[in-house]
Amino acid sequence: MLRILFLGTGGSLPTRNRNPSSIMINIEGELLLFDCGEGTQQQMMRAKTGMKALTSVFITHFHADHMLGVPGLIQTMSFLGRTEPLKIYGPQDVKEFVNVFIDLGYYKPRFEVEVIELSPGDIVKRNGYCIQAIGTIHSVPSIGYALTEDPRRGRFDREKAIALGVPPGPLFSKLHNNVDVEINGQLIRSADVVGQKRAGRKIVYTGDTRPCESILQASMNADVLIHDSTLARDKEEWAKESKHSTAFEAANLAKEANVIRLVLTHISSRYTDDTSSLLKEAQEIFKNVIVAEDLMEIDVPLKDK
Ligand SMILES: [Zn+2]
Ligand SMILES: [Zn+2]
Repeated sequence: MLRILFLGTGGSLPTRNRNPSSIMINIEGELLLFDCGEGTQQQMMRAKTGMKALTSVFITHFHADHMLGVPGLIQTMSFLGRTEPLKIYGPQDVKEFVNVFIDLGYYKPRFEVEVIELSPGDIVKRNGYCIQAIGTIHSVPSIGYALTEDPRRGRFDREKAIALGVPPGPLFSKLHNNVDVEINGQLIRSADVVGQKRAGRKIVYTGDTRPCESILQASMNADVLIHDSTLARDKEEWAKESKHSTAFEAANLAKEANVIRLVLTHISSRYTDDTSSLLKEAQEIFKNVIVAEDLMEIDVPLKDK
């Protein structure tokens, strides 16, 4: 399973429809949070995600709308009896900021909070996937994240295996798992019946940023690109000044990076009642685009079954 749950999709300010930024990725039952704006824990409750399976929080930068949910989440999990450690990743100064959260008030979490600083290009290697920090351009130190699954094994050529004299059954699975087998004294190599490894799925989340080369490179052929889309094209000057992106710019980058799907997020409160201008200008460039909504879920299918 690879599922994206949008917990908060608002830009800078919460509105009645949108919480500040937070995105949850469920990868084979493990929960990862990307940004944790105010109210994230209540959005998790509304979406019934639970908190136990949450292992890591990845913060893009230390503006309030991306991090104020962290202290409340830590205190709630401690109150609920969590004992498993929690990892919190972020750009420079993450340790300083998270330590303030941990020491806030008279609470002390009853579980370990491990804080890890990442620089652009750093890779967090996990079982079955990795997360790479991407350089982004915002008004304060910031990074984005690319989650990439490990490559999957190649396709098994059943007909060829039978033609080579391998009987259907356990030997098929051995061959598919990279083990050579012997049939009547003849060696059948796994490589003869298993194709090239297939690329794993990739999700990129930019956080707040101007469009930039490092995001473009990290997003090449991504399954889902979740891009800052704070403003519409008519506010491009303001987007440049505040170091955000327009929907039009996000769509251009998505097209150039040849991604499968683009999701626009960090929507300014000025579009509270109507996001159609954002969608329209993006669609003119890149067809497979949607505007994120709070509690929206996206399943990321395998590209090549
Ligand atoms: Zn923001
Ligand atoms: Zn920001």
